[in-house]
Amino acid sequence: MKTQFEVGIIGGGIIGQSIAYQLAKEGVSVLILESNKIGNGATSAAAGMLGANSELENNDAFFQFAKESQQHYHVLRDELSQISQINIQFVDKGMYKLAMTDAEASALKDVVKYHESVEWHSKEVVLESEPTLSATIKGALYIPEDGHVSPYHVCAAFSKSARLLGATILENTPVHEIKKTVTNEYTLSTPVTDFVCKNIVIANGVWSGHFFKKLGLDAGITPVKGECLSIKSNDIGLEKTIFYDHCYIVPKGDGRFVIGATMVEDDWSTVPTIAGIQSLIEKVTPIIPSISSAQLIDTWAGLRPQTIDGKPYIGQHPEGENIYFATGHYRNGILLAPKTGLMIRDLILNRKQNEDYVKAFSVNRLQVQTM
Ligand code: FAD
Repeated sequence: MKTQFEVGIIGGGIIGQSIAYQLAKEGVSVLILESNKIGNGATSAAAGMLGANSELENNDAFFQFAKESQQHYHVLRDELSQISQINIQFVDKGMYKLAMTDAEASALKDVVKYHESVEWHSKEVVLESEPTLSATIKGALYIPEDGHVSPYHVCAAFSKSARLLGATILENTPVHEIKKTVTNEYTLSTPVTDFVCKNIVIANGVWSGHFFKKLGLDAGITPVKGECLSIKSNDIGLEKTIFYDHCYIVPKGDGRFVIGATMVEDDWSTVPTIAGIQSLIEKVTPIIPSISSAQLIDTWAGLRPQTIDGKPYIGQHPEGENIYFATGHYRNGILLAPKTGLMIRDLILNRKQNEDYVKAFSVNRLQVQTM
């Protein structure tokens, strides 16, 4: 077995796979070590919304980064399908952010004044295209750019493409320890064997906190549990994603509707609770009254990796080691995966970077601000 690589990535979720794909495309020898199955963590739990406009409120570096990442899905849809033959199920029919009261309608109409990518649609216009929605809605903000993908298929497509381009991807291979060698490389210790890499990337989502501590950094990651359910129904027909009060209904290409997601801080359990699922059904019922007759297909839960300011860590170790971080993507890891892969590739290959992004996502940004 080959044990020497230019880049070793810890974690085989969507973030690790996106990085491996971009590096393998450049001919870099890359290894992913995944403790479980590829995409088994938060990636498989996600609804797959690409909510750059609906999730982020400030026109800052984070928003620009998210928009670029969202745009890059148009490139990846064709590129990954050509290499891997996997369809990432990219649907770009947009999203409706609903108003259920006059006050909410007026707040959403205000957004149109400063946000060029959105439109206000009256109740009549909304109901004409989405007749399943309740007639009690007051209208909706139409966000054409916020589509969705299948996170599982994106992760599988990155992974298969990276493999076909030469990457080594090992499942059931947890990294227990990172040690620096006398030649300034890194040994990644696993129960299988030790791997020696010139550069390493910490991309193991909510579990990255362990390595931050070991590497002398106090930037923490905490879990925010999210529960979801999926349903099927002949009485519900939706084209667009529907978003209301932190709850969403995503119409998937296979006929399912994914409804999510709860937000439970600091909870490491990945089992959905009755209370969590009930709260989602209670939120959706006033929006789509016919939901009560739908078939329940599945329920699940996953752990969002949250940082202290809600932005990911994407960058190099502050002491200039060849250690990189790509973690803490919280509610938006599916959206941000394409651009994270490109940014880490460029950092490792020493290419020109957008300095606003380097600052916004640096591991020690909060210490620098308070100095
Ligand atoms: P993960 O997918 O968790 O991958 C980390 C991997 O590291 C895991 O596979 C794990 O097994 C592995 N690992 C852990 N420790 C080790 C170790 N020591 N050695 C080797 N491997 C290790 N984002 C969106 O953009 N849109 C959405 O609609 C959306 N919906 C969501 C809904 C829910 C319910 C949840 C929970 C999340 C949602 N997210 C969404 C967020 C998104 O899922 C995450 O931000 C993203 O999946 C993080 O990807 P990751 O690769 O960093 O982490």
